[in-house]
Amino acid sequence: MRKRYLLAPGPTPVPPEILLAMAHPVLHHRAPEFVEIFGQVRENLKWLFQTREDVITLVSSGTGGMESAVSNFLSPGDKALVINGGKFGERWLKLCQVYGAKVEEIKVEWGHAVDSQKVAQALKKDPTIKAVYIQASESSTGVAHDVKALGQIIKPLGETILVVDAVSAMGAFDLQTDEWGLDVVVTGSQKALMLPPGLAFVSVSQKAWRLSEKAKNTKFYFNLKKERDSQAKNQTAYTAAVSLIVGLHEVLKQLKAEGLANIFARHKQLAHAMRQGMLAAGLTLFPKESPSDALTAVNAPEGVDGQAVYKVLREKYGITAAGGQDHLKGKIFRIAHMGYADLFDVIIAVSAVEMVIKGLGYPIKMGEGVRAAEELLMKK
Ligand SMILES: *Cc1c(COP(=O)(O)O)cnc(C)c1O
Repeated sequence: MRKRYLLAPGPTPVPPEILLAMAHPVLHHRAPEFVEIFGQVRENLKWLFQTREDVITLVSSGTGGMESAVSNFLSPGDKALVINGGKFGERWLKLCQVYGAKVEEIKVEWGHAVDSQKVAQALKKDPTIKAVYIQASESSTGVAHDVKALGQIIKPLGETILVVDAVSAMGAFDLQTDEWGLDVVVTGSQKALMLPPGLAFVSVSQKAWRLSEKAKNTKFYFNLKKERDSQAKNQTAYTAAVSLIVGLHEVLKQLKAEGLANIFARHKQLAHAMRQGMLAAGLTLFPKESPSDALTAVNAPEGVDGQAVYKVLREKYGITAAGGQDHLKGKIFRIAHMGYADLFDVIIAVSAVEMVIKGLGYPIKMGEGVRAAEELLMKK
C-alpha cells in the first residue's frame, strides 16, 4: 500500500468536504438553485480579489484566463511590455505575440524579481505602451514580483493597464486588486483555491474596461464583456462548469470563515518553515530574492540530479512535487505549500527530501531540517 501526497505547484489537494460537495447530482446551469449559488460565488470572489469590480469566471485552465487578458485588451500592433522572469513570463510573451502585439520585453534572470524602476523607465521611454504583463508569483522559479510597486507606477498613467497573472498567488498572499491598482488579475481553480483544474477567474478595472472598448482582436469564447453582461445576471454565457462552481461555493465559505489575514499568515508561516527547514538540512534555495509564499524552489545539491529527487519522491515515497523547467531541469525541485496545506505538509516534505537526498548519496544532516521546521511551526 502506498499513501499519496500531492505537493506540486498545481494541481493541489482538494479538501474531502469539497470533493463531497462536488459529488452531488449535477445542477442545471439555468436552474434557480445554480443561479443562487453563482450569485453568492460572485460576491465572495470579489471579497477574495479585494475588489469592487466583477470577477469573471471562465471554464478553462489558468492559461485561458491569461489569453483573455491579452485578446480582450490589445489590438494588433498595440505595444505591450512583458516582464519575463520564468516559464510563465514567457507565456505572456507568446500570447502577446500570437495576438499581434508589438512586445517589449524586460528579461529578468530566473531566480530574481523585476526591478520596478526598470519598468518605470521603459514606460517613460515609450508612453504608448498599452499594457504591462507580469506574474505575482512566478511558479517556475518560486519568486514573487512586487506587483504593488508596479501598481504605484502604472496607476497614475492615464491609459496603461497592469495585468497580473496571480494563478499561484491569489489566496496564498495579499493582493489588493483595487487598492494597488491591479487592472486585470487572473487566477485559476487548481492552485491556492483548493479545487480541481477547470476554472479561470479574471477581474477587470474600469480603466481596463475602457481599453477593452477599443481592442480589436478577435475573440469568441473568451469574450470578457459578453461574460460580464451575462454573469451580472448570475448566468454564464455558455454552460457553466456547475460542479466546480458548487465546489468553489464551499471553498469560498471556508476561506471566508478563516479570513484573509489568517490565510496569508498561514501561508507565510508554512513558507518560512519550509525554507528554513531546507536550509537547516544543508540545502540552498533557488530564489536569490523575494521568495513566493506559495511554493519553494530548492537547488539540487552538488552531484545530485534534481530530476532524480523529484522522481524518487514520487516513486519511492508517493509524493508528487515538481522538477525544474527548461535550463533548470535537473538543477532544482519545487514543492508547494498553498491552498489545502498545513504544518504537517511541510514536515512531510522536509522529512522526505532529507531521506531522498541522503538516499541519493549526498551527506545531508538527517533530521536537522525537520527539527528547524518543527520549531518554527510550533510558534504561533
Ligand atoms: C499554474 C499556473 C498558470 C496556469 O497554468 P494552467 O496549466 O493553464 O492552469 C499560470 N501562471 C502561473 C504562475 C501558474 O503557476
